[in-house]
Amino acid sequence: MITGTIARISGPVITAKKMTGSRMYDVVSVGSAALPGEIIRLEGDEAVIQVYEDTTGLLIHEPVKNTGVPLSVELGPGLLASIYDGVQRPLPALFAKSGNYIQRGIMVPGLDREKKWVFTPVKKPGEMVSQGDVIGTVQEFHLVHFIMVPPGISGEIKTITSGEYTVTEPVCVLADGTQIPMLQRWPVRKGRPFVKRLDPEVPLLTGQRVFDTMFPLVKGGTAMIPGGFGTGKTVSEQTLAKWADTQVVVYIGCGERGNEMTDVLTEFPELTDPRTGYPLIERTIMIANTSNMPVAAREASIYTGITIAEYYRDMGYDVALLADSTSRWGEALREVSGRLEEMPGEEGYPAYLATRLAAFYERAGRVNCAGTEEKTGSVTIIGAVSPPGGDFSEPITQNTLRIAGTFWALDANLAYRRHYPSVNWIRSYSLYLEDVEDWFSETVARDWYQFRGRAMYLLQKEVELQEIVQLVGPDALPDKEKVVLEVARIIREDFLQQSAYSDDDSFCPLEKQYWMLKVIIWYYDAVRAAMRRGVPVRQLLSISARSEIARMKEQKDPDRIKALSDKVWEQTENLEVQTCSTAA
Ligand code: ADP
Ligand code: MG
Repeated sequence: MITGTIARISGPVITAKKMTGSRMYDVVSVGSAALPGEIIRLEGDEAVIQVYEDTTGLLIHEPVKNTGVPLSVELGPGLLASIYDGVQRPLPALFAKSGNYIQRGIMVPGLDREKKWVFTPVKKPGEMVSQGDVIGTVQEFHLVHFIMVPPGISGEIKTITSGEYTVTEPVCVLADGTQIPMLQRWPVRKGRPFVKRLDPEVPLLTGQRVFDTMFPLVKGGTAMIPGGFGTGKTVSEQTLAKWADTQVVVYIGCGERGNEMTDVLTEFPELTDPRTGYPLIERTIMIANTSNMPVAAREASIYTGITIAEYYRDMGYDVALLADSTSRWGEALREVSGRLEEMPGEEGYPAYLATRLAAFYERAGRVNCAGTEEKTGSVTIIGAVSPPGGDFSEPITQNTLRIAGTFWALDANLAYRRHYPSVNWIRSYSLYLEDVEDWFSETVARDWYQFRGRAMYLLQKEVELQEIVQLVGPDALPDKEKVVLEVARIIREDFLQQSAYSDDDSFCPLEKQYWMLKVIIWYYDAVRAAMRRGVPVRQLLSISARSEIARMKEQKDPDRIKALSDKVWEQTENLEVQTCSTAA
């Protein structure tokens, strides 16, 4: 083992001498406290190391040992419902060992070594297998956890036996003697192999109207949620973690306040998945590297999370990876880069910020998974971005913008007016709109796209009209345009607004989203048709169906919403009769 000594210490970055033979990204154990770290630069016999724990108290000349392996995660049954720190140490096990103030240098493996799992083979001796092939299954809560041949391994099966095994015991032995346990290791900085990237065409549904209907995301796509302090990034990420229609969710709390993680941890065990009825926590993996934890480990938390996400993708599952916030990771890169005295780029961020961000988001995708049998899996990345002062021109927002397919821009003014989610419908966009059009028209309704487009048009028109109203006052507008303003208000208040805390509305099924929007657009059409026949606008805007529209969100019976679309027509038509009879 290469063993050097500490020569310099600068916050989370240390330099070790006598490290000849080390490779980039090797994991090292630093000092007598054995703090985990990763080599991030090599020069002569010196290695520069970012340390994943607090370096206070380290001394010059303390030993640095190179483990000879890159930073890796353990993959296998037992990941679901786990809560890890940035380097995949299970937090509950750390607490058990050292109490509330976690001692430094404790190593606890990511997967429980004692727990036994019931392994059921799906292959027989004599069969040929190669990387990605499923050799058996294990039940992990309600998910079938496929045990796969690790990347780089292939051969003929000599023995494979059902039974109870720990993750390290071999469940299968190949003819050449290779033993395959359920546990695999994978270096976090490297994407796991797959066969082919597929086009995105299936939406990732979230139960949020502004996301699903207005700015849809796809399975295997990327989304960013930028927003200033208090605009609702964390609430959005948590809402997505709850309701995203994926089998697995990886939630990374990166550099944000610890109490937000605590909220998730206390709330999730009580929530059930609206689609399966099972506890949400059982499909979730949490990675917590909160603001009080070491800065350098933020980067590790991002890579640990994406690697675990890829592992479940390889089984043929859809996985959502949520990161709150990627800005804190960027800031960690800036801090480490500053300590390395690298040439700073824009606003002090390292010049490689853009490539790092791109390489991370690149790991999203819908793919044909590795393996002989065809499997399709996906990783969708949704990253919160916290621009200082809410200024979207700063480097992390700008660099992420170039990569992300969906841009859900949170707006401080909307949040201030308590319009939640505070997604600005003018600034936000989805590049996947056309990709999902076919899916929506086959699965939901053929006119979905048309209603969505008309709603967006009315919202854009509202912005123009408001400028005129500012100049000349609302009364100067012709009736036709007063109606546009009124319907745009309905779209905003009765469709786009959706409280994360409402029992009846925090999750809105797609079918309901469609009918809600359809009712609103039909109301608009009905009002305009009646106006053309001479019915006064005042009366049209006060029909009783209007107040039912305002209550659609809480309406649980879909038939009542569907019935409303007829009601708006009937009521506006009846009005005409009334008006004519009074006139007569
Ligand atoms: P950020 O992470 O951007 O700083 P938070 O997600 O913590 O902001 O949101 C701040 C507050 O805004 C929340 O505590 C909540 O009261 C409110 N909020 C945000 N989004 C919603 C929502 N979808 N529904 C209801 N309230 C929300
Ligand atoms: Mg937050």
